[in-house]
Amino acid sequence: MEILSNSVTFWPRDYSQAWTLNAPVERSGVGLHSGATARLRLEPFEQAGYWVGWLDAPELPLSQLHPSQVCETQLCTALQLDQRRLATVEHLLAALAGVGISSALLLVDGPEIPLMDGSAQPWVEAIAEVGLKALGPRPVASALSAPITLQHGQSFVTALPSERLRLAAAIEFPQPAIGRQLFSLELTPEAFVEQIAPARTFGFKQQVEQLLAAGLIKGGALDNALVCDGDGWVNPPLRFADEPVRHKLLDLLGDLALAGLPQAQVFAFRGSHGLHTALAAALVSSS
Ligand SMILES: [Zn+2]
Repeated sequence: MEILSNSVTFWPRDYSQAWTLNAPVERSGVGLHSGATARLRLEPFEQAGYWVGWLDAPELPLSQLHPSQVCETQLCTALQLDQRRLATVEHLLAALAGVGISSALLLVDGPEIPLMDGSAQPWVEAIAEVGLKALGPRPVASALSAPITLQHGQSFVTALPSERLRLAAAIEFPQPAIGRQLFSLELTPEAFVEQIAPARTFGFKQQVEQLLAAGLIKGGALDNALVCDGDGWVNPPLRFADEPVRHKLLDLLGDLALAGLPQAQVFAFRGSHGLHTALAAALVSSS
């Protein structure tokens, strides 16, 4: 057993071991869609995978997360878990998978995960507060037998067989503040914490105003998303000059985490939650 201090230098070195949380930790915050306060308690769990139960309905059975539960990918990744819907899971799942946690119980109050600051950093900090507990060697994910590519319009995702987990994302926007950005890395817990976790969600001023007016993002605010007005940002400073593409990579990881970390090199060109989760489903059915 290894107990972490708050320092991020003590994350697992790689993803060869199975880890859970060392103790429960709870956070609450505004939900993007409802604007209501959402609450989440992360608990240690021995069985492999990410499992969801309900603080507000403890009698319901636990659900193990799986890409087949994806029911909506427009503004976030939402899951249908038996009779309950759970939205905005991707940043939390990226944090869990990214730091090396392979088993956890997520106890949720309400229909969505708190948005926090729009990045995975607050979840990383919550996990660092309680530390990780080793569960032994992690079962090796079966290697891809062939590349998988999925396409939607000009966007595509591709997964290639690889001994090491490498992720890359590229984005292309007409807005000069974003333009073309590429980010790639060999994923390790430390690289995730330092280079990916702090990157926040971004949106466009006009689109954000429309969604707010339509009541679709009641919890959307300038402290939980970067807002682009074309040539610049409404709420600078950025945490990285290329924060948008790093956030795309964060979303990619969070969506792939529904299937567990792949033994693959994955590239998402103009990725979306729809493409990412479709790839997670394809990775599960190919293994
Ligand atoms: Zn996101």
